[in-house]
Amino acid sequence: MSDPTRLGLAEARAALRTKSLSAVELAKAHLSAIEKARGLNAYVVECPEKALAMARESDARLGRGEARPLEGLPIGVKDLYATEGVHTQACSHILDGFRPKYESTVTSQLWRDGAVMLGKLNMDEFAMGSSNETSFYGPVASPWLPPNRDAEWARAALSGDKKGLLVPGGSSGGSASAVAAHLCLAATASDTGGSIRQPAAFTGTVGIKPTYGRCSRWGMVAFASSLDQAGPIARSVRDCAIMLGSMAGYDPRDATSHDAPVPDYEAAVGKSIRGMKIGIPREYRIDGMPAEIENLWERGIAWLRAAGAEIVDISLPHTKTALPAYYIVAPAEASSNLARYDGVRYGLRAPGKDIREMYENTRRAGFGAEVRRRVLIGTYVLSAGYYDAYYVRAQKIRTLIKRDFEQAYASGIDAILTPATPSAAFGIGEKTSADPIEMYLNDIFTVTVNMAGLPGVAVPGGLSGDGLPLGLQIIGRPFDEETLFSIAEVIEQAAGRTALPQPWWT
Ligand code: GLN
Repeated sequence: MSDPTRLGLAEARAALRTKSLSAVELAKAHLSAIEKARGLNAYVVECPEKALAMARESDARLGRGEARPLEGLPIGVKDLYATEGVHTQACSHILDGFRPKYESTVTSQLWRDGAVMLGKLNMDEFAMGSSNETSFYGPVASPWLPPNRDAEWARAALSGDKKGLLVPGGSSGGSASAVAAHLCLAATASDTGGSIRQPAAFTGTVGIKPTYGRCSRWGMVAFASSLDQAGPIARSVRDCAIMLGSMAGYDPRDATSHDAPVPDYEAAVGKSIRGMKIGIPREYRIDGMPAEIENLWERGIAWLRAAGAEIVDISLPHTKTALPAYYIVAPAEASSNLARYDGVRYGLRAPGKDIREMYENTRRAGFGAEVRRRVLIGTYVLSAGYYDAYYVRAQKIRTLIKRDFEQAYASGIDAILTPATPSAAFGIGEKTSADPIEMYLNDIFTVTVNMAGLPGVAVPGGLSGDGLPLGLQIIGRPFDEETLFSIAEVIEQAAGRTALPQPWWT
């Protein structure tokens, strides 16, 4: 086989089963692609020995005809997931040297199903960010070339400070970049306010944030526990469905995990959507929305209509309050979750003359600027004098947002179609100005979904005028990921799979 990294996950699965390819060959091809792509900075840790050992076990099982669902398929893991004995730092300095003694539920289910672990993927520190620029390990470059730049310019930028190259989105930027650059067949990611869907949209890949509770959060480094959810990024809708089938499931170790069997998500891919009702929320037509995002949305509507769906206007009146409320709830939970990083139990310790000074020195040295900002905001909105004015208010808004969706679904719609992001990818260094709100606005179409705990998928819907990927988002009813896969497949078929960039970075 010429270059097995060009295969999709489902195609590689078939090639392994017919023995036209071995798991070791497939792992080696990926490991060598990863090595040549180090400039992108998508991986923070490579695990060649582990990968080859797992691939050999897969080959043995394939030889005995005992193939498991993901047998021999190499994947990358976001640095947020605890992986036994392997660097797990959520790309923060404060977890310096942390090697967990346990494996997260989601990753252990992937290995149970025969997947091969390639390494740990870069991300925004503690998953706080929309561009993968807050990582302690430096920014990740998108494999997409910036408009009007050639490969030679980009290679030079890659070995420098990467300014002007495109961001892959965040916080799962390493996952999205690695998937788009064919450095893994699929990757785990996580989504608190858009961190699976926005990077997928920016890189021409597919990402699904399942319903809150669908995947176990056990062994995932916590950001905002009531919003965090695991999910995959892959190069096709089918590949995402296959991944989610292994990642999802009840886990008694996560009290918020949903106790219900995991449906056959792959069977939903290719199902007709004829007769489905798709809602178009009028409040998502935000002021100043670029014409090409408007056009993308119109295209999506036309594709679904052509596939036999009925398009209905709906109203989600509290949409515009979601972003400010999210940026109170998420930092509040983060400030509480991050209190555990005190230099005592794990990771970094910066000594001081007494314990208090040790705490302060450790946290000062260990947290980056964005994380510090969130801890400050969170502590402020939870403090005695402001709790009611900010935190309680934001929680009330959250209830109203949830109610908006419930009312829309009660009117009989099956899903909702919106753009995934308000723009195509921007440049590294372009939005890291003094005003963090500019970055936060990236989440305008995605945070409502986390606030309501609903499933949402981002799927490529074509290219911008500058030739960059744009994504559509489909939002579903609770625990109805299957409908999302059916609708997303219709869009993928209509839009055509995005032709991902050819390697210029080697
Ligand atoms: N960009 C959002 C934030 O910074 C969402 C991040 C995420 O989903 N993890 O909070």
